[in-house]
Parts: sequence; C-alpha cells; structure tokens
Amino acid sequence: MDQIVSRRDFLAAAGAGVGLAAAGASLGQVGQVRQEPRRIEVAGPLARPAVIASGNGREAARLAYEMLLAGADPLEAAVSGVALVEDDPEDSSVGLGGLPNEDGVVELDASVMHGPTHRAAGVASLRNIRNPARVALEVARRTDHVLIVGEGALRFAKRVGFQEENLLTDKSREAWLRWRSTLSREDDWLQEDEWDLPPDARTGRRAALEVPYTTGTVHCSALTAAGDLAGTTSTSGLSWKLPGRVGDSPIIGAGLYTDNAVGSAGATGRGEAVLQVCGARTAVMRMEMGDSPEDACLYVLQMIADRTRFKRLQDDRGRPNFNVTMYAIRKDGAFGSAAMLPGATYAVCDAQGARVAPSRALFE
Ligand code: ASP
Repeated sequence: MDQIVSRRDFLAAAGAGVGLAAAGASLGQVGQVRQEPRRIEVAGPLARPAVIASGNGREAARLAYEMLLAGADPLEAAVSGVALVEDDPEDSSVGLGGLPNEDGVVELDASVMHGPTHRAAGVASLRNIRNPARVALEVARRTDHVLIVGEGALRFAKRVGFQEENLLTDKSREAWLRWRSTLSREDDWLQEDEWDLPPDARTGRRAALEVPYTTGTVHCSALTAAGDLAGTTSTSGLSWKLPGRVGDSPIIGAGLYTDNAVGSAGATGRGEAVLQVCGARTAVMRMEMGDSPEDACLYVLQMIADRTRFKRLQDDRGRPNFNVTMYAIRKDGAFGSAAMLPGATYAVCDAQGARVAPSRALFE
C-alpha cells in the first residue's frame, strides 16, 4: 500500500537518512566532529539588557531597550526599533524615503536573526513595502525559507497583510531626478543649468547641483537580561544601484549574524565589500575566539582593507576609499563598533540610557 508522506516528513527523512547514508556517516560520527560554540565567560556585573544600533538608530535602540525591559522577545524589540527608522521619511537610507535605484524605484533589503532558535530570514529587492525587516520577521515566523526576493517577496508581504505604498517621497524623487539629469548632456533629460523655463514654485531651482549619493542602513542587535540575542539590518541599499542589486543587508552572515552562545553583529556601508568577507559572521566568530566586540569589528575591516585590490576602490595611499561600519554586542553585554574611515557613529542603549558614540576608525 502506498504511504502518504507529507513534504515536511519527506524532507526530514531525506536530511536525516539519505544525506548521511550518501556521505557514509553515522549519527555517532557526525556527533563526534560537531563542535559546540565556545561559551562566553561573563565577568563582572552584567550589562544586560543592552541594545546596539547604527548611528541613525538611537531611537531604535531606545525603543528596543524599553521593550526588553518590558519582557519582549529580542527580535520583536529590534525589529520594532528599526521600524522607527524605516518609517522616517527624512532618513534616505532605508524604508520610506530611501533613495531609489537607477530607474527611480525604491528597492529594500532586510534580514532578521533570532538567537534562541537560530532562525534567520531575509527579503531582498522588495518594492512598495516600507518595513522590510518586519516582512523578514514574517518570513522567519511563517515559512520554512530563509530568503525571498523581488516579486515573490512582495507577493508574500501582501499575503501576510502588509500594505503597498509608494515609497518615493518628494525629496527622494527630486534627488533621483537631479541624479538622472546629470548623467549625460547627450540624452533628453536637461540639466538644471540648461532649463529654458523657470522651476516650479514647489521644488525651486537649486543653485548647487548637488546629487546625494548614500550608503546607509539601519542595524540593531538586542540582548535580553537573560542573555538571549537577536538582530536585524534594513536598508534601501546603494542609491542609484542597478535594479535588482542586492547588498549585504539581507544576507545572513554578511550584513547580520547572531549566535545566541556568543553575540550578534551587523554591518553598514559598502555591501559588496562586506559580502566578500562574510562580515557579520566573521565578527561573531572573532568574538567566539576571544576578541572584544571592537576588536572583532576591526578584524573584519582589516580583512576588507587587505583584500581591496582595485585602484578604483583605493585612495592615493592604497587604502579603501569607501566606508564600512561594523557593530557587535557580546552575550555578556560588552559592545563595540569600528569603521574603515573616521566619522562613523553607533548608537547604544543600556542602563545608562540611549546615546550615540564615535565608532573606532581603522584608518585615522
Ligand atoms: N550595506 C548596504 C548595502 O550595501 C548599504 C549601506 O549600508 O550603506 O546595500
């Protein structure tokens, strides 16, 4: 008689039996090579709960911290904090008001990772939904997948109740129009100094034809009083990117990584560089090996600097000409941040309140 096997049972059986048999391994052998993560020793008074965030995330850190005090799950707290930044039309690096791709369309990427369950998920190239981190959380909560992109991510978001909206604000559309008009004097978009007609009263002619180019993202990692961790990273990516370009933010191990036995880390800045060194995973691994959070961040930046070989990405001293900022928090509440170049900041909230501090620079 035929047996009816659910897809989930089939996958579990395939994973446990067929995969191991093919590899010639028994469960015992697998158990022998498995290594538990090194436990972080907690020394001194516990600095928990605590929240670290990117420099644009002070209010995110504050809200997440308050939610932790009230007993919230650390991922719910981090995602709720980050939603404040995603909802802010003045922050052009994320969510509503994020700078669009080269077609003038805002495409968002985000990831979440929950330490206690080691569950991670991301969405990429998501259009028309202002809170991609919340969508990533729903991917983690409601599906068996880790990454959903583009049209599929939008359909998923709508199915679970997110509302579509136009994420371009007047400000971000104006910025895109200015960028578009400066691309060439050969195409049919006139630059402002070529206009024959006066500008409309609403936008006004801008004397300086400055076109913003942003990198920017919001990251938040939260640590509960009990020592549970979670993190989220959310971004509109690089402004004027090629449609469909995906950076580090939605990629687990690059823009975000959380290990409940060790710590949580995130990245902002040039995603291409972070992706190519598995930045956040590397930072957590360095903390597991004994680095302080700041040293773990510096290690990742040095890795990037050592591997930046193209002249177009170097300054005249051969150093990277782009910024990356790393953020890390350890299970005991120690935290730190470092950036490739000076000027970057991070936010933190603990018993001393919410504040923004300078990130340590690899190159002063
Ligand atoms: N890391 C983001 C990305 O590459 C952008 C940023 O943080 O500026 O998409």
